[in-house]
Amino acid sequence: MKLSKNSKFPCGSGKKYKMCCYRFHKGSLSKNALELMKSRYSAYAAGEIDYIVKTTHPKSPLFEENIIEWKKSIREFSKSNFKKLEILDFFERENEAFVEFRAYIDDFVLHEKSRFKKEKNWFYYDGEFLSS
Ligand SMILES: [Zn+2]
Repeated sequence: MKLSKNSKFPCGSGKKYKMCCYRFHKGSLSKNALELMKSRYSAYAAGEIDYIVKTTHPKSPLFEENIIEWKKSIREFSKSNFKKLEILDFFERENEAFVEFRAYIDDFVLHEKSRFKKEKNWFYYDGEFLSS
């Protein structure tokens, strides 16, 4: 399901996509890891594959050398139905941050504590799955 600019949604802000995460997908930098987390969630929903790659830390264990294959698998995943995002916790230090969330995707709930690292900008680093 693709987002139109007038879709309300996925990051949970209640704003229309064009007034919210769209600007990040078009190049604005998120000012903290929480914004980054939300904009990555809506990037999946919007099929903004390059944004996912661009905001993954190059040293992350999840960063794949074969970018073409990686993008293919992100694209497959982005066809899921991204229903809702619940932020449960957000903790930030100088160069590292954690966001705990529940993401409702198709018929499952992903409960994860994601780690973000800051270089010049914030990047997704890795995550720990938690039981719902
Ligand atoms: Zn948003």
